[in-house]
Amino acid sequence: MVKLIIPVSKPEEGAAGLTGIWRSFKPIIDQEKCKHCLMCWLYCPEGAIERIGEDKLTVKINYDYCKGCGICADICPFKAITMVREE
Ligand code: SF4
Ligand code: SF4
Repeated sequence: MVKLIIPVSKPEEGAAGLTGIWRSFKPIIDQEKCKHCLMCWLYCPEGAIERIGEDKLTVKINYDYCKGCGICADICPFKAITMVREE
């Protein structure tokens, strides 16, 4: 049996603080539309999407590190992520 290993880096607070404060748009996941394909998790350049739940197939955005680039919303094949302007 072949075991698939995907290296994943985790974001950490840097000298400039949490990168989430740079954000002007915020991704919101509609969990009803999400089909758990993990494309957003794979493509997020910040490692700001976490996999949670027992099977690790539910995705959650870590807003401490999400910069609001919108890649996750663009890549989601099911249009389950919407970018909304920050308050
Ligand atoms: S890319 Fe879209 S459908 Fe796939 S896990 Fe992310 S939010 Fe869910
Ligand atoms: S908006 Fe960009 S940084 Fe934030 S979760 Fe999506 S891909 Fe990652």
